[in-house]
Amino acid sequence: MASQEQQKYDVVIVGAGMAGMYMLHKLRGQGMRAIVIEAGSDVGGTWYWNRYPGCRCDVPSVEYSFSFSKELEQEWNWTEIMAAQPEILEYVNHVADRFDLRRDMVFNSRVSAASFDEDAKHWTVTTEQGESYTADFCVMATGCLSMPNKPEFPGADRFKGEVYHTGMWPKEAVDFAGKRVAVIGSGSSGVQAIPVIAEQAGEVIAIQRSPVYTFPANNRKLEDGYMDLAKADYATIREQQRNSQTGIIYYSPRRPKPEGAAPGKPKKRPSKTILELTPEQRKQEIRDFGFNVLSQYVDVHTDPEANEIACELYRETLRELVKDPAVADQLAPKNYPIGCKRPVIDTDYYLAFNRPNVRLVDLRETGPIEEITETGLRTQNGAHIEFDMLVYATGFDAMTGALKRMDITGRGGRKLVEKWEDGPRTYLGLQISGFPNMFTITGPGSPSVLSNVIVSIEQHVDWIADCLSYLRGHDLHVIEAEEQAESDWVAHVNEVAKGTMFTAPTCNSWYLGSNIPGKPRIFMPYVAGVHTYRQKCDEIAADGYRGFALAG
Ligand code: NAP
Repeated sequence: MASQEQQKYDVVIVGAGMAGMYMLHKLRGQGMRAIVIEAGSDVGGTWYWNRYPGCRCDVPSVEYSFSFSKELEQEWNWTEIMAAQPEILEYVNHVADRFDLRRDMVFNSRVSAASFDEDAKHWTVTTEQGESYTADFCVMATGCLSMPNKPEFPGADRFKGEVYHTGMWPKEAVDFAGKRVAVIGSGSSGVQAIPVIAEQAGEVIAIQRSPVYTFPANNRKLEDGYMDLAKADYATIREQQRNSQTGIIYYSPRRPKPEGAAPGKPKKRPSKTILELTPEQRKQEIRDFGFNVLSQYVDVHTDPEANEIACELYRETLRELVKDPAVADQLAPKNYPIGCKRPVIDTDYYLAFNRPNVRLVDLRETGPIEEITETGLRTQNGAHIEFDMLVYATGFDAMTGALKRMDITGRGGRKLVEKWEDGPRTYLGLQISGFPNMFTITGPGSPSVLSNVIVSIEQHVDWIADCLSYLRGHDLHVIEAEEQAESDWVAHVNEVAKGTMFTAPTCNSWYLGSNIPGKPRIFMPYVAGVHTYRQKCDEIAADGYRGFALAG
């Protein structure tokens, strides 16, 4: 697009992932002049950067899609229950083309700073490439998992082979054939990548610091007729998603019965709690419903006794899947509860360890990685592990990383990095006191990563757009979260997370910032659910944006 230097906009949006894309579309519809600044060379955010082998969504495709356009819903066909990265990127590109979004987007431009001018009441956003954009409002659509975490191992630059990070995967195909590939990390990315790389590589060395609770994705191709039924059901699907806890309803189309067919048996459902079952009944439920059921009992998420029973049954199941008992034991998570970390789902992760070309290195036995060498890595016990390629599947500086990486300056020269030194503070995850006219989509303090993020993105975009329209209608130019409202919200977010497995003392997760050395241990997302959260946001708006200071 043509140079936008020094141009003035109504809204500058940072990030051309799904949040930035919909924000732009929505604001255009309201007659506002908006521009999107994006570090990548195209749209897609998460789906643009995470191109690693095996990458796929863990939310059913028809639910992990935009609801804002009925035409879009009707014209797009998904091919799998849970789409793989290439298909989602294709969808995202289709959305960009269909709504002509790229016209107001600047690519290959990484925002380095944003600052609020109190007199002019506008934001100036500058990029590493030296461009600057001025707008009345700034929307950070920077994503929750967009700042890759690459641990700084001594000697990392010495390694002579190819090095990749799952969250910054190149567009070009990577050739693993005949190579010894080390994969550091066993979170969602490592668990997805390892079985697929193992099919191509000479050897995969899975380097594990913490074993993971991972459940089968049970993915499959969509059968004929599925999309027709889903399209007819979209209105109901969306309504149910918005009124749910997570924005995921695990939609299953109800096929019309052939005429004259006998009524089917009522579907058997698992018990609500694990504690009400006898040991034999628990095993029967695993046989009936698969071992995913272990993470579905409500008491597993709130009662440590129920949780430990589920963990033990999980380890038993794992021992049945992995042939080598010693490897099964190394892969078995212990000492932290199911439900503490973000649920991981996989396709044949454990079965990959039955392959002759997959080897596990358990850092709990060897000690941590001490250094990277020219040909591999050395662990604390002195062992040297040799390989040709190194894949970091080491995750992200989640929720705050992308925001803190920019130099954001609010009222009175206040820096966001200083304000958030002890952890993020927001009002509703939408605004930060001291930073007027800046909004965060799926910011810390909102359901965001605990939900189907598209549902949360759409809710935030709609709320922000309504808010801007309200300001315009009332001849108001500045909106800022009040300090007290923010403090009350932070306290509420902490309160509702108490007593859940997310904040168990033995839990270390990226939700808590524990994956980043030195990051304050604060539980960042809002656990009360997308439905409750939406109601609160709507009530606050209906009450004249209670807790926000509005000025002309
Ligand atoms: P992650 O869950 O944070 O996992 C990172 C892995 O790297 C962990 O096993 C971690 O060990 C390990 N690690 C980090 N630093 C290390 C070090 N210094 N030495 C050795 N090991 C180290 O990251 P992720 O797998 O990229 O997933 C992040 C999130 O992205 C997911 O939770 C999910 O929300 C999203 N995601 C979703 C999908 C999907 O839709 N299916 C796929 C990929 C990612 P510790 O556990 O000991 O810290």
